[in-house]
Parts: sequence; structure tokens; C-alpha cells
Amino acid sequence: MLRCEVCGRSADVHHIVHRCEGGLDHPLNYKCLCQEHHRGKNGPHKSKDIDLKYKLELQKKLEGLLQEEYYPLEKLCSMLELKPKTMKRLLGGYHLYKEGYRSDDVIYELMGRMMYDEVMLEHYYDFMPVYNFA
Ligand SMILES: [Zn+2]
Ligand SMILES: [Zn+2]
Repeated sequence: MLRCEVCGRSADVHHIVHRCEGGLDHPLNYKCLCQEHHRGKNGPHKSKDIDLKYKLELQKKLEGLLQEEYYPLEKLCSMLELKPKTMKRLLGGYHLYKEGYRSDDVIYELMGRMMYDEVMLEHYYDFMPVYNFA
């Protein structure tokens, strides 16, 4: 049984980069969350900053994994446990250098063609309530 990564209750799978955002149906992109931490108000589908926080975690994890500037396809497949077919489809539009594919391109694709930034998180916290001056 899957356990919620936040509270340990029984969970199902959340796609960190949502499938509609181009996220992969792959363990790398999974986060186990219970009903409440998935669809509730403290879950990524209701809370923008939680959604962003999980995406930043994934991006950092990928940046930590892919520390070299380039990786050959086979190496990427084994490191990320992705099938060569999936990887080729993902990286089809990118230049294959002598040393392999650029890590930045790989991360960008895996993040659903986005790069997330801590600054984005701070901006969510800057949200100001609308005061009624009347
Ligand atoms: Zn939970
Ligand atoms: Zn979900």
C-alpha cells in the first residue's frame, strides 16, 4: 500500500508535473499523497504554493542527479530509469552534442518545458488581501 509522504496515511499517486502540463507517467514524477494532501486545501491541486514547492523539489532532485553538463542517451536512460524510446521522444527537438544531450535541456523537458524558481514561491506569499476601504 502506498503511504502519504506528508502524513503516512494511505495514499495514491500524484503527478508532480501534472500530465496536462506534459508530466511523465513515471515514478520520477510521482508523489504519494493521501486524499487530503492531494486534493484538499493543503494539496497541490488546491494550493499554488504547495504545487510549486513540489515542482521545485523535483527540479532540484533532477539538478542534483544530472550534475555534468552533458550526458549520452544511454547514461540518461539508466540514471533516470527511462526507456530509450521515451527519452528520444522527449529530446527529439534538441541538439545531440558529441558529449550527449545537455542536462539543462533534459531537465527543462522533464519539468514540462518550464524552469521553476524560488522567486516564484516568494511571489505567491506576496499575495495581498483585498481591503475594503469603504
Ligand atoms: Zn497525507
Ligand atoms: Zn494529483
